[in-house]
Amino acid sequence: MENKTHIAIVTVPVYSHLRSILEFTKKLVHQNQNIHVTCINPTFGSSPCNNVNSLFETLPSNISYIFLPPINLQDLPKDIHPALKVQATIFSSVPSIQDVLNTLHSSSKLAAVVADGLITQVLPLAKKLNILAYSYFPSTTMLLSLCLHSTYLDKTISSEYKDLLDKIEIPGCIPINATDLPDPMQDRSSEAYKVFLEGNDIFYLADGIMVNSFLALEENTIRTLQQKECEGVPSIYPIGPFVQNDSCNKKRDFEYLKFLDKQEKKSTLYVSFGSGGTLSNEQIIELALGLELSGQNFLWVLRPPNEFGVIDDLDIGEYDDVNDVLLKFLPNGFLERTKEKGLVVPYWAPQVEILGHSSIGGFLCHCGWNSTLESIVHGIPLIAWPLFAEQKMNAALLSDGLRVAIRPKVNEKGIIERKEICEVVKNLMVGEEGKGIRERMEKLKGDAIDALKENGSSTKTLIQLTLKWKSLGLNI
Ligand code: UDP
Repeated sequence: MENKTHIAIVTVPVYSHLRSILEFTKKLVHQNQNIHVTCINPTFGSSPCNNVNSLFETLPSNISYIFLPPINLQDLPKDIHPALKVQATIFSSVPSIQDVLNTLHSSSKLAAVVADGLITQVLPLAKKLNILAYSYFPSTTMLLSLCLHSTYLDKTISSEYKDLLDKIEIPGCIPINATDLPDPMQDRSSEAYKVFLEGNDIFYLADGIMVNSFLALEENTIRTLQQKECEGVPSIYPIGPFVQNDSCNKKRDFEYLKFLDKQEKKSTLYVSFGSGGTLSNEQIIELALGLELSGQNFLWVLRPPNEFGVIDDLDIGEYDDVNDVLLKFLPNGFLERTKEKGLVVPYWAPQVEILGHSSIGGFLCHCGWNSTLESIVHGIPLIAWPLFAEQKMNAALLSDGLRVAIRPKVNEKGIIERKEICEVVKNLMVGEEGKGIRERMEKLKGDAIDALKENGSSTKTLIQLTLKWKSLGLNI
């Protein structure tokens, strides 16, 4: 590591966050051969699952990594929501992160610490050591703007946000319905809301925040935040889109490839809800019947329902209940009736590879930010079907702001009915609305490619950041 600038990256144990920050890290060391990165990874459970391990197997030699000892969550109630497990792991990991930072800094001086946006608690640790402190934000600049604005909203609005009739104004963003605000903001008396506000306040300590977005995608929001630097908002660096390809996935299931190869160009809808999202059984049945009614081709990644709507620690590995999943939750006879038009893949599929296949013409997506960016870089129009976290806000951005998605209506029981599903699928795949969306998505795809070119906005921003480090005397 001699004569190299040493940077520590602190991750959180959430698959999609890891995937995003590791792509950023790879880009950073690829662009600057003089940087060495050490990734510090909090973990929960006995050890990282195969999915997570496969992300680390592909890292180049100038990225080393440390898994912190797994946090013991046995004191927590059994079967708590996965998001609370992550939160508890983050809080409990802070002392060991501090120890590792101290050791790394005393053995080979650290120039900067970059921490995932969910673990802002690392920023004061870096400041204490007199090291530059950055956040890596793996979601939209819109969410970042909301985070930076959340204390102001808390002070100026007294009722529950979800009871407000007027839309919420977020600096530089389209106004959104309060019901589309992220989950922690839906109940102001909750612990999650308190943690959200406290975490957001710490962002202001950062020397800068890197966002997995790009100028052409969120120009107004990015510029608005950049203009607020004089008010104490940290420098914002849009440096994405970072999208991983699936070449690291060892398990190859060619059934989906054979199916896609048989379909016409842009004729097939890909249906998937992120790394862990699940639907209720009632919703699975409506979705199945809606897809069938639409008459369109589909490739659907299906998971069994569970009480939280999300499975944590999902593995690419073998599952012994695959047939159960296919037979137990789908409507009677569905697989047989749709076998020429559709394929249902249990649990997991190589998404980036699928989105890159020429027969894919639409993506029914939960609006997780990685999935959204993967769709954008492949120019695939979206049906926005948000489930949790900040996904409803992403859905609003995609449908009302960028107009690259159709958002189906949810009934008063929280279900999207088969007729509605059939309508939106047909509109997207073969309707007039779909045509306009496809054109706008193609344009965004071009913008995404441009942002990453040698002279593109994201590449230049990352260079600008490393030049700043250089000007501070860091050896890059
Ligand atoms: N993913 C995948 N295969 C699947 C489901 C998900 O490869 O069957 C990947 C997907 O490509 C994306 C990530 O898992 O990179 C999901 O991240 P996202 O931010 O979209 O959603 P989250 O997992 O946070 O809900």
